Amino acid sequence: MKTILVGIQGSGKSTQGNLLSEKLGLPYLSTGHIFREIAKEHTPLGRHMKEVMNAGYLISDDQAIEIVRDYLQRSEYSKGYILDGFPRTVAQAESFDNDMDHVIYLAVSDEEALRRISGRQDATREDETLAAINRRIESFHKFTKPVLEYYKEKGVLIEVDGEKSIEDIHHAIIEKLKI
Ligand code: AMP
Repeated sequence: MKTILVGIQGSGKSTQGNLLSEKLGLPYLSTGHIFREIAKEHTPLGRHMKEVMNAGYLISDDQAIEIVRDYLQRSEYSKGYILDGFPRTVAQAESFDNDMDHVIYLAVSDEEALRRISGRQDATREDETLAAINRRIESFHKFTKPVLEYYKEKGVLIEVDGEKSIEDIHHAIIEKLKI
């Protein structure tokens, strides 16, 4: 089963992705995590990624698509996966017509997302400056909201209230997935 998690930064995608991964026995992967690892490398690609991510911009579609495609070819993902953070643009979604089973949207208001991010323990993370966070919120509305429409039309979109407790959200997801 192939499942995608979509949500604004701070919506709880990685928390819910990990819980779902445990419940379903399927691997969890996050493009944010993969890209942050690449950004640590002292290579031209690493330096470029670091700059783009720290400023709160999206990695280019071509780069994101190529890296994700490479990852998903690994045998550990052959039975399915929980993918967090991709696709974030309609171009990415289109490139990835990978008969997705479910797309879960964790709906959280901009205000709640900002409140959560500023309260994080690792709020000193290099890519979590206020300017970068605001730019990510902007990108979410501009580029990722249309991705939700795209999957709604395909009939695979599940919307969950992401402002409930972690347990309530997890149970709502399980219920809507009918598993
Ligand atoms: P995340 O941990 O999902 O919030 O991602 C952190 C950062 O990684 C984002 O702000 C983007 O710069 C980059 N990123 C993650 N996923 C994608 C994607 N699918 N397309 C472009 N950039 C991405």
